[in-house]
Amino acid sequence: MKRQNQSTDFSRRKLLKFLAGATVTVVLASRVGSKLAFPEPVVAHPHEMTPDEALQRLIEGNKRFVNGRTNNPRRDMVRIAEVATAQKPFASILTCADSRLPAEMVFDQGFGDLFVCRVAGNVATPEEIGSLEYGTLILESKVLMVMGHERCGAVTAAIKGGQVPGQIGSLIDAIKPAIKRAENQPGDKLANTCKENILLQIENLLASPVIAKLVDEGKLKIVGGYYDLDTGEVSLVS
Ligand SMILES: [Zn+2]
Repeated sequence: MKRQNQSTDFSRRKLLKFLAGATVTVVLASRVGSKLAFPEPVVAHPHEMTPDEALQRLIEGNKRFVNGRTNNPRRDMVRIAEVATAQKPFASILTCADSRLPAEMVFDQGFGDLFVCRVAGNVATPEEIGSLEYGTLILESKVLMVMGHERCGAVTAAIKGGQVPGQIGSLIDAIKPAIKRAENQPGDKLANTCKENILLQIENLLASPVIAKLVDEGKLKIVGGYYDLDTGEVSLVS
């Protein structure tokens, strides 16, 4: 009997918590004065999510973004308080430092949802690999996406070759193998190289025994994404 009461009490608390969340969503929607945002499906706690579910959550968020139906979720003081002392991001993302692809906006996510490394050319060099080992092994993200993009300046510079100032050359060195892989492909050389670079950096990440083990155990999915600067759409690259 006692157990049943506890269970009922727990359900009531969950319901109240849900209603509080719903109120915040409605308040936010009315504050922005736009059409009522499309509610996100009820999602599992990040650590209960499967890698496929985590990827689906990214894809659905990007669809909302592309269709102009963003929820801008978990971007309020309630959420900031919720994640102030701990984070459980469901996805880790390695993407370009380019100012036109902020991951939380592109995937319509909020605070504490994404563990993001941004570096020109989305290169997986030791610091990025270490960061993403942390994001996947310690924080337990379920999906790791390498997101490159159309007309990437770093890839363009790598294709162009020649002298570059400062330490920009280190980025170019990390991208160079992708140029060779794309050289005999039909179609647009820059787009092909950007996509090959995504696959190359996935290989670099999989060379990490930490990340490879998580993938082998089915705890993590690693995917490539290609961001279209014209439409905002992220398509999967394989
Ligand atoms: Zn770029």
